Amino acid sequence: MSRVDLLSLLPPELETLSRRLGEDRYRGRQLAAWLFKKGVYDLEAMSDLPREFRSRLGEEAFIGLPEVERITPSQDGSRKFVLRLADGARIQSVLMPDRDRLTLCLSTQVGCGFACAFCLTGTMGLDRNLTAAEIVGQLAAARLALPPESRVTHLVFMGMGEPLANYDATVRALRLFTHPGAFGYSPRRITVSTVGLVTGIQRLAKEDLKVNLAISLHATTDDVRGRLMPVNRSWALEDLLAACRRFPLPVRQRMTFEYVLLDGVNDSPEDARRLTLLLRRVRAKVNLIPFNDWERSEFRRPPLPRILAFQAILLEQGITATVRWSKGEDIGAACGQLKEPRLPKMASA
Ligand code: SAH
Repeated sequence: MSRVDLLSLLPPELETLSRRLGEDRYRGRQLAAWLFKKGVYDLEAMSDLPREFRSRLGEEAFIGLPEVERITPSQDGSRKFVLRLADGARIQSVLMPDRDRLTLCLSTQVGCGFACAFCLTGTMGLDRNLTAAEIVGQLAAARLALPPESRVTHLVFMGMGEPLANYDATVRALRLFTHPGAFGYSPRRITVSTVGLVTGIQRLAKEDLKVNLAISLHATTDDVRGRLMPVNRSWALEDLLAACRRFPLPVRQRMTFEYVLLDGVNDSPEDARRLTLLLRRVRAKVNLIPFNDWERSEFRRPPLPRILAFQAILLEQGITATVRWSKGEDIGAACGQLKEPRLPKMASA
């Protein structure tokens, strides 16, 4: 039997594991407290667990913390973590301070298979899904790098990959983040962003997780969206918005629509007006993301007046619209700039 990664187990599952190893249930809760509350990832350091139990745990399980390969600080205070996983794959997460918030942007896949034309991660293709332990391991790794008094306050699934294309691991990670006996985050502090996978949105609607949902919309006609985002050929705007309208939003919560502004492509006043019409029957707010440049991309960021004019049209129609000036642009950590070169394949021994 292969060893299980303790970072992937919910507190009740840690209790069951403890029972199976001949210990009382509460040992599982102690274990959960070490892993998720105290941020201790070394069985030897878990001083209130019997030595015998720790050594049996060591035989049956492990703690697969991603290794921090480097941390790149940005001028704006954000930091990019390049993490190396057990099989050598590399992913990135980004820590972003903003007033009293500290947000961690998490990856869910190595690369991404959706090939949005404006996204650098999309040029990588998909290598593999992350496990739930590798998703929560990004928070564990960030915590270890932080001084004890600072705490990650918000989690966004907006790094490399498409969360809903790695559905089971994403949902398990969400349960680990929100379970009171695990990380214990309020679901209101967590946002899952999707390219617009209608089946995934419908499944998520039934999970009763109450996390925030963000939709990468980026265009107001199927023609333009289909050119920018190949996924639109499977799930067109009408299907996507129908799924959004049916998504059960908690009271006072709104769905976020992300809209990357591309010069001369989707940034006209007509686009802004069409966007207000599309969102008419959704409790929505719009996050405008001026395009973040990357080498060899065919797009440009619109001039500032055009960005503000687009925003103004939404505001006039009563739609909350903010402009997200991405963080970490100088270190390639902004929206759509995450990419890590693959390591050369090692010759098998
Ligand atoms: N796959 C998910 C999660 C990624 S979130 C999704 O598509 O939503 C990253 C956000 O940044 C997405 O809205 C994505 O479309 C946007 N983005 C991608 N490339 C970008 C770029 N070069 N400039 C600005 N935003 C970009």
